[in-house]
Amino acid sequence: MSKKITAPAIDQIITDFIDYYIKTNRVDNNDRIYLTNRLLDLLDKKEIVALMPLEENEQPLELLDKLTEYAVKQNVIDDLSSSQDVFGAKVMDLVTMRPSEVNQLFWKEYEKGPKKATDYFYEMSKENNYIKTREIAKNIEYTHQTEYGELEITINLSKPEKDPKEIALARQTKTNYPECKLCMENEGYAGHLTHPGRANHRLVRMELNEEEWGFQYSPYAYYNEHAIFLSRIHREMNVGVQAIKNLLDILTTLPHYFVGSNAGLPIVGGSILSHDHYQGGRHTFPLEKADVEYTFEMSQSSNVEASVIKWPMSVIRLTSLDKKAVVKTADKIMEMWEGYSDESVGIYAEVEGEPHNAVTPIARRKGEAFELDLVLRNNRTSKELPDGIFHPHPPVQHIKKENIGLIEVMGLAILPPRLKDELQTVRDFLGGKTSHVDALHQDWADELKEKNEITEDNINEIVDKAVGDVFLQVLKDAGVFKRDKEGKEAFRRFIDYLISY
Ligand SMILES: [Zn+2]
Repeated sequence: MSKKITAPAIDQIITDFIDYYIKTNRVDNNDRIYLTNRLLDLLDKKEIVALMPLEENEQPLELLDKLTEYAVKQNVIDDLSSSQDVFGAKVMDLVTMRPSEVNQLFWKEYEKGPKKATDYFYEMSKENNYIKTREIAKNIEYTHQTEYGELEITINLSKPEKDPKEIALARQTKTNYPECKLCMENEGYAGHLTHPGRANHRLVRMELNEEEWGFQYSPYAYYNEHAIFLSRIHREMNVGVQAIKNLLDILTTLPHYFVGSNAGLPIVGGSILSHDHYQGGRHTFPLEKADVEYTFEMSQSSNVEASVIKWPMSVIRLTSLDKKAVVKTADKIMEMWEGYSDESVGIYAEVEGEPHNAVTPIARRKGEAFELDLVLRNNRTSKELPDGIFHPHPPVQHIKKENIGLIEVMGLAILPPRLKDELQTVRDFLGGKTSHVDALHQDWADELKEKNEITEDNINEIVDKAVGDVFLQVLKDAGVFKRDKEGKEAFRRFIDYLISY
């Protein structure tokens, strides 16, 4: 007795999904049955009809979408973006090597060269959907020419927005494990309503100055090979001489990457101060290409080239073949900056015992040499400027009001997603389609209308350029020594103070 069985479509999808990883040598054929059964379990499915994989099957992430869609339809998971994220990570974990194997392979590739090792790890992190390549592709990006070179502008549209239902549910799901989103304990952690799915997350272990650190990529990268280096222990950011040593140590291991740290104080630091970490990657930022304004020499540091960079923020660059000399000189500069005040330009090292001066350090290799940029920062606030004196001022906050961290410092603007729609209203206003824009942008839009010959063809260009100009002003606001005569002279006084020591 024979009866023709029509296999459910999901069976073909499961078959094709597993087959893709076997066909492309990412998993062993001996694991086919095992992985199929593990996937059935995730889908809460009791059986599968034996099928041949399709010759021309779809791309793995499209198949993943279909598996997720099935799980939602069958009520295996909730119809919430966080549930889908957790589920997707679990599926991708099945076809991802264990952390120990990833580490072995990384260091095996490393023997062929550091670039081979990071290429392997980067590709792996994209392939297993840990790095959200499809979401990142939604970002709006362009460059903007200024007297400091080309700045880079990104409107960040990659992070999924939660719906109100999810936000309400999230209130009931607070946990203390892992302690934060940067902790190593995220590796393989399933995630839930308030914690992203990390089942497919892998970290490379790396020793920095005899301490264990983790190396991973950023799921929502802002630039090529956006990497994060994090301490094994959950501890606060500490941007002192040890951080400089660690940055240069990373560059000894990965000479083709840049690496930097956010400043260790609120307002001028990054968004996470609670876990010691650095950011790096493989991208040449505008700051790196900026011109030298003048050079100077510090006594006791004759083998370190020191210069002031022509940049809207206040940057001292150190270059030397001698790693230890760079560390020593940087230590001295940071110590002197931390205690430095110049009331004529509003710089106070401390007020009532609270320190305000900090640096954002950024390091890279130039051939064999080590190059370290120390960006001088101050996080003081005042009654007139409660968000920060050296922080985006109210007239530019309609575009950017968030902290100016390491990435912006280097000349890459990460602008909030709200701007996508808001800037469209500004374009419509300039084109005469509407008579007003969001109150937030009204003054700016009026000014653009007045200052420009607007035609249908140049509206986009006018708005893009205007946003770029605002970003330049944002950087100038964050600069401790302004770019006018008074500011440049004040910067020179600080340099003279460094030289005198
Ligand atoms: Zn942590």
